[in-house]
Amino acid sequence: MDRSKLYRRFRTLLIANRGEIACRVIRTARAMGLRTVAVYSEADRDAMHVALADEAVLLGPARARDSYLNVERLIEAARKTGAEAVHPGYGFLSENAEFAHACLDAGLVFVGPTAGMMTAMGSKSGSKALMEKAGVPLVPGYHGEAQDEATLAKAADKIGFPILVKASAGGGGRGMRIVRSAAELGPAIVSAKREAKAAFGDDRMLIEKYVDNPRHIEVQIIGDSHGNLLSLFERECTLQRRHQKVIEEAPSPTLNAAQRETVCAAARKAAGAVDYVGAGTIEFVSDGKDVFFIEMNTRLQVEHPVTELITGIDLVEWQLRVAFGEALPLRQDEIRLNGHAVEARVYAENPTKNFMPSVGRISTWRLPAETGGLRIDAGYREGDSVSPYYDAMLAKMIAWAPTRDVAIERLNRGLEDSDVRGIVTNIPFLSALITHQKVRANAIDTGFIERELAVLTQATPAPGELELCAAVAAVVNDERQAAQVDANSPWQTFGWMPVGRRQRHFAFRVGHGPEQKITLNYGSGPSTLVIGDRELAFAIAPKDGGFDLTLDGVKSSVAAVIDGHELYLRTRHGRFDLHWVDPFGGETEEQAGADKIAAPLPGTVVAVLAEEGATLEKGAPILTLEVMKMEQTLRAPYAGVLKSIKCKVGDIVQEGVELAVVEPSGE
Ligand code: ADP
Repeated sequence: MDRSKLYRRFRTLLIANRGEIACRVIRTARAMGLRTVAVYSEADRDAMHVALADEAVLLGPARARDSYLNVERLIEAARKTGAEAVHPGYGFLSENAEFAHACLDAGLVFVGPTAGMMTAMGSKSGSKALMEKAGVPLVPGYHGEAQDEATLAKAADKIGFPILVKASAGGGGRGMRIVRSAAELGPAIVSAKREAKAAFGDDRMLIEKYVDNPRHIEVQIIGDSHGNLLSLFERECTLQRRHQKVIEEAPSPTLNAAQRETVCAAARKAAGAVDYVGAGTIEFVSDGKDVFFIEMNTRLQVEHPVTELITGIDLVEWQLRVAFGEALPLRQDEIRLNGHAVEARVYAENPTKNFMPSVGRISTWRLPAETGGLRIDAGYREGDSVSPYYDAMLAKMIAWAPTRDVAIERLNRGLEDSDVRGIVTNIPFLSALITHQKVRANAIDTGFIERELAVLTQATPAPGELELCAAVAAVVNDERQAAQVDANSPWQTFGWMPVGRRQRHFAFRVGHGPEQKITLNYGSGPSTLVIGDRELAFAIAPKDGGFDLTLDGVKSSVAAVIDGHELYLRTRHGRFDLHWVDPFGGETEEQAGADKIAAPLPGTVVAVLAEEGATLEKGAPILTLEVMKMEQTLRAPYAGVLKSIKCKVGDIVQEGVELAVVEPSGE
């Protein structure tokens, strides 16, 4: 086909996506002088990408298939706004050959490869056959047409266990099973096929040798329509959970220079096999020594910023220039690797509750400034809502430094300096992960997170002296600031208390832990804090986002957010979420600890597991909800009697609705 039909100059770009990637593409497109068009669903009316674009078109209802996956609506949106080109981002329709075709038919430039290239590389089996021909190293395996059980079993036997059964059309780790013995094979194939059929409408399987202690290494490539193809070094994405990447870095700390050149050359060979045009990624699995091709992604990846930071290349700019029909601006020998970059994916999810997605309004969104090697690609702002309809990634935080150690330090500092409230995020988990001694030492494989989960999701440590003092300081500081609006308030004078009181008693608690008591003394001299038999002089100097607390002559910076009786503190010991036990609220420990059995998110009741009147142990299952395609069992928060069940199987319940009542037993 005549490539000038596919790739030519344009002035208006429609971004067929949402969230951080839509925002990120808009930023570069605007810098290149393009007019930008956003599209959105009813759930995203007030979303950040809509606000950033020059124009925006409503696609339809919240469900992706009615909006972001609706090809007709997208083409219509381009027509209505005079858009001449479409950038698909990642996910949604980014690897959908029909969509690329529909764009071409509508006279639009598709910022990406041709439909033909996507089809050739889209199936894992098909692409492996191509790679085999091109001489790219493959994991030993079977990727043939015949799918009967006997053929698959024979293939598995020949390869040798453990093996991996994989959906040929797979993505996102779905339709994939590790099989360790012949006996497990049959059931694994059946369940992988079922999952693949549901997710991709295609249940063809391939079999691969399961590489031991696997590492994930991938190479960024980009080709233009003039036959130039470049590799932009590799990324290592070994820190995964359920085959989904969590932390990515570039370059790979596992490869030496010779191995780096080998894998990059293999990637160029792989992409060259289809004369690839556009940005793409060749993924490999590695045993730490050799690399084996697993698949190609024919789009920009989530983790592309780490490559941008070590090469100084804006990949979206290059994608757009390739789409304009330009030649790539550099030669392979002009691409330089500089320093090290690490990225963390910030999600609205709760790592202590099996990474359950968290939805709701973001009440506080305080991320550090993008200075000192830190970059933040965000898709949300303060006041935005996270809906249950889409992937719950909020932002990516990326740190660059001359060395890996410093990049990790910078990223950790950036995470520690972040405060996101109103929803639960994985930020503390990410901090724990990148500072884990084995991660620092690069002694990891793709199973690392699963094995270390208990350590990585440990509850915050008990607050010490510094934190209790900081908590009192936070309350007092907050009261003083609140009083500033009223110039006549006696709180203006620090230390003023209602007549006769020279002391104030506080109690704080973490979760259901014990109350910790601390007393504030107002004397004629400096105020002091008393914990047990220790008395400490203290002073507070308010600043943005918190205060400096001087305690016994040592000044330290404390970040603090107060939300009613909930205190979020960050001291030099880390993050602490404290509950301030209100001395006037008549709150008792039991009341505060009583958990409602309520829907944590909107969902469907799929099973009721206990009967009304039953006596329940603490932790006994009561009912199961299906929330965002994941099953979640609600359990008795304490031993007691199941007074009532307020729902039945099949009910669709809203977030926060009480589903059952358990009356605590006597003691
Ligand atoms: P998906 O397209 O669903 O993401 P991939 O084929 O890219 O599936 O594999 C996802 C992840 O699974 C990889 O990043 C790697 O960690 C792991 N993996 C894939 N193939 C193998 C293999 N043969 N041996 C060990 N691990 C593998």
